[in-house]
Amino acid sequence: MRSSLSDPLVLPDRSSIVFTFVLRFVMPLMLIVGCFMTSTVAAENQQSRVLYLNSYHRGYPWSDNIEQGLRERLMAPGKNIELSIEYLDSRRFSYASQIGPLAESMAIKYAKYRPNLVVVSDNAAFDFALKYRRRLFRGLPIVFCGVNDFRPAMLKGLRNITGVNEEISVPDTVEMALKIHPDTRDLVFVTSTSDLSSKRNDEIIERTVFPKLRDHYKLIKLTDVSVDEFRQRLAKLPTDTLVFVAGQVRDQGMGRPLSPEENGRLLSTASPFPIYSFWDVYLKSGVVGGHVLKGVDQGWAAGELVLRILAGTPADAIPVVMTIPATDMFDYQAMRRFGISSDALPPDSVVLNHPFSLWESYRWQILGIVAVVSLETLLVLILLRAIRERRSALDALAQERVLLEKHVELRTVELEAANKRLALLSFSDGLTQLANRRCFDKVLTSEVMRQHRTGAPLSLIMMDIDYFKNFNDAYGHVAGDECLQQIGALLDLMVNRTADLPARYGGEEFAIILPDTDAQGAKTLAIRICEGISALAIPHAASCTADHVTASLGVVTMNTVNPMPLGEIVCLADQQLYQAKANGRNQVMALDMTVKSA
Ligand code: GH3
Ligand code: MG
Ligand code: MG
Repeated sequence: MRSSLSDPLVLPDRSSIVFTFVLRFVMPLMLIVGCFMTSTVAAENQQSRVLYLNSYHRGYPWSDNIEQGLRERLMAPGKNIELSIEYLDSRRFSYASQIGPLAESMAIKYAKYRPNLVVVSDNAAFDFALKYRRRLFRGLPIVFCGVNDFRPAMLKGLRNITGVNEEISVPDTVEMALKIHPDTRDLVFVTSTSDLSSKRNDEIIERTVFPKLRDHYKLIKLTDVSVDEFRQRLAKLPTDTLVFVAGQVRDQGMGRPLSPEENGRLLSTASPFPIYSFWDVYLKSGVVGGHVLKGVDQGWAAGELVLRILAGTPADAIPVVMTIPATDMFDYQAMRRFGISSDALPPDSVVLNHPFSLWESYRWQILGIVAVVSLETLLVLILLRAIRERRSALDALAQERVLLEKHVELRTVELEAANKRLALLSFSDGLTQLANRRCFDKVLTSEVMRQHRTGAPLSLIMMDIDYFKNFNDAYGHVAGDECLQQIGALLDLMVNRTADLPARYGGEEFAIILPDTDAQGAKTLAIRICEGISALAIPHAASCTADHVTASLGVVTMNTVNPMPLGEIVCLADQQLYQAKANGRNQVMALDMTVKSA
């Protein structure tokens, strides 16, 4: 083992190779990467100071807009930039006289607060920065914007400067306006020489527009005119004239230069013709519109350059942005004043001051109201339909009820008739239509009871047709039935007192209940019936009594003094009947059971 350990030819094991590799290569690499990352993070966290030199003052719309664009770009999340702003106020105060002391005061102010970068907007600040660069901003990169008519020659011999050119697009605006007003012959350009920027705009118009349009249009340049002069000049021009404002009218005695808005308002009030401009700050002052530059776009583009420089790109390596796309912008109220239709505008135009239609302003409220009203209408319709259905159902029900009542009424009448018929049937004899035996029993029972109460006489006649079997045998049953019907009809005719009841007792036997009828009366009636039947002269060849049908009658009369059970009365009458039969038939036998009261 020992010899093997000390053997110089033995290779180092794998773990010692890995250890050596990590120690010599990986660790140093990690250290380098770590240091780089730390420095990057530190650089990112490090605050950058940007000094912004504004040519004008706060409240001047153009440079306010540039400042807004710059702020929006630089103050984006994750950017740690402190923005200091200096206003040169070159428009309100004499630029030449204040510029030296201003530089001195700034030298004191920024002696211990050194910015990383300087942004300048518009020509005054640009000139100032160049002039005092050595004194104030030595070695600092400069980003410019809003500088009119920038030419690369202006940076000759200078280093570390880049920026954004502000080139007003006069030809584009003129071309666009002529498309909207194709009959135009005269073009008026309002310019001024009151400040550096205006002066340069005046030069641009002279240089870029006039040579191109001179042959086709009458071109009038009004430079540094007063409002009155402007008005008077325009009064002499034909109807189809367009005005372009690139500068301000002469001071109106306010003791300071006019803002673009004030300038635009004075001009548009005085002008009978549509006015176009080149900057967005003229919008809403009565100017129709234009292919305008926006201060916000200038500031935003400058901010973009600032970020690139702060991220490490040298300013010299970033070419100057020569053009920023302009926007076709219009004012709705001014368009209306000159009868300009939205259809005449270039596509993608921005129209400001557009009054929202009722629909645009209250779309959701209108939709809500429409929805609620629709829902309510629907509910009302459903309700009305339900009411209508209910009403028709009630009507149908009422009709049904009337029908039902009529039906019930009819049925009741029918039932009553049926009941009457039934009652009649149950108390009458089907063949003779006289009262039947059942009825006889019932009436006799009640008459007997009544007689018991009143004491009035009650008579009963029992009658049997003589040799009727023979009659049937001789003439047949149908003839027998007809005979019974004739005799029944006769009884009905002869027994006509209301209380009297002729009845068919059974077979060829009849019975007549005679309430309040004494023995004499009953017997007389019985005899008259007996004679009446004979008088019918119904032939009866098989009779042993006569050649016609005859009958035998038994009469019984009683009163209260001598009351007797029901069966006994019938029995007594029957006995008299048999007696009559026995005596030779065709006769009456009577029994007077009445007892005279003492
Ligand atoms: P009498 O003189 O003794 O009374 O002799 P009769 O033949 O009349 O008496 P009987 O009692 O012998 O016969 C009664 C007959 O009456 C028997 C039956 O044929 C007949 N008769 C009973 N009811 C009816 C009926 O409703 N129709 C017909 N055609 N005949 C009847
Ligand atoms: Mg008989
Ligand atoms: Mg008989």
